[in-house]
Amino acid sequence: MMRQMDRDTQIVHAGFRKRTEPGPFLGGPQFSSTYTSPGEPADNELTYGRFHNPTWTAWEEALRILEGGEAVTFASGMAAVDAVFGTVLRPGDAVVLAADCYYTIRRMAAAWLEPIGVQVRLVPTRGNAQEAALDGAKLVWVETPTNPQLDVCDVAAIVKAARTRGVLVAVDNTTATPYLQQPLELGADFVIASDAKAITGHSDLILGHVATRDAEKINALRTWRTQHGAIPGPMEVWLAHRSLPTLPVRLGRQCDSAMRLAEALAKRSDVAAVHYPGLPSHPGHDVARRQMRAFGTIVSFDLGTRPRAETFLKSLSIVREATSFGGVHSMAERRARWAGDAISDGFIRFSVGCEATADIVDDVTQALDRAR
Ligand SMILES: *Cc1c(COP(=O)(O)O)cnc(C)c1O
Repeated sequence: MMRQMDRDTQIVHAGFRKRTEPGPFLGGPQFSSTYTSPGEPADNELTYGRFHNPTWTAWEEALRILEGGEAVTFASGMAAVDAVFGTVLRPGDAVVLAADCYYTIRRMAAAWLEPIGVQVRLVPTRGNAQEAALDGAKLVWVETPTNPQLDVCDVAAIVKAARTRGVLVAVDNTTATPYLQQPLELGADFVIASDAKAITGHSDLILGHVATRDAEKINALRTWRTQHGAIPGPMEVWLAHRSLPTLPVRLGRQCDSAMRLAEALAKRSDVAAVHYPGLPSHPGHDVARRQMRAFGTIVSFDLGTRPRAETFLKSLSIVREATSFGGVHSMAERRARWAGDAISDGFIRFSVGCEATADIVDDVTQALDRAR
C-alpha cells in the first residue's frame, strides 16, 4: 500500500493550481468589483465583488485542507469573531467566554453583546474551568494557548462536556495555527483565527477566517460576510496564500527556537516566571503534548517591573519592539502597555522569529544582563 502523503507536502501545495494545469502555480490576485454577467444572476458564476472572488476561493481551499472543514475568509480576525457571534447569538442567549482570551474579544462582548441582552460569562482557561459554566449556554468560546499568558485547556474534554448540554464550541486557534492544532478534529463546531499572525507570518497583512464542518453554518457565515461587508481585499488574500507553503518550515524553526529560548529563560534567577506550554513545569504541558504538534512561537515571561521590562526591550539589538506575533522577524513587547489583561507591568510577550536560534537566545541574554 502506498504511504499517505505527509501533511507538510499537502500544505506546500494547498490551493495551488494542479500540476497538469498550464500557467502560474498560483494565479495572481484578481481585482474586480464587478463581472460581465448577462441575464439571470444565477446563470453567472461571478457577478459582484462583495459576493465572491476567485482569489478568496483558492485561499479558502487551502484553509479547508489545513483545518479539515470548510473555511470562510474575512477582512480581519475580529471580523471572523464577529461573524460567529453574529450568526450564533441572540438576545437571551449566554456565551461562556475565556476570561483570559484576546482582550478585544472581551471588550467587543461587553460593548455590543451585553447591551442587546446576551449574557457573557467570563471564566478562566486554566484547569478547563469553562466546563463548570456551560449549563444553559448557547456557545462556549475557547482559546488555547491563550494570548498572551499561554494557558492551555483540553479542547476534546470541553467539547464532550458541551455536547451533552447542547452548547456549541468555538476555538480561537490563532496562537497555535492549524499546523500545530486542529480543533475541528477535536470536535469543535467552529475554529476562528487571525491570519495576520503565524499562519501567514510576514507581518504584512490583516486577515481572519472561520472554519466549520456544518453546511448550514458555512452558509450563514457567507451570508453574514456578504451582507455585513467584512470582505478581505484580493491583494491581502493573495499575499497570505503566497506565504502559506513555507508554514511547516517557518513553524518548525520558530517552535524549536521558542523551546530553546524558554529553557534558557527558565534557568535564569532574574526572570520571575516563564510561560511556555513546552516546559514540563507548565500546568498545561500534558494537555498541550496531546493536542498540539509543537508548542508554538510565543514565549511569555515576567521581569517584575515596568523599568526592567523597558530596559530589556531597549537593549535588544535584533529583536524588534512591536505588537503582534508569529512573524519571521522576532518581536517583543511589554504587554501591559495595552490595558485588558491581568498581568504584571513587567510582563513580556516574545514572538520567536526565523532568525538562527543562537542569535535570538544571545540577544535576549545580553538584554537581560543589562536589565538586571
Ligand atoms: C490578533 C488576534 C485576534 C484578532 O485578530 P485581528 O486580525 O487583529 O483582527 C483574535 N484572537 C487572537 C488570539 C489574536 O491574537
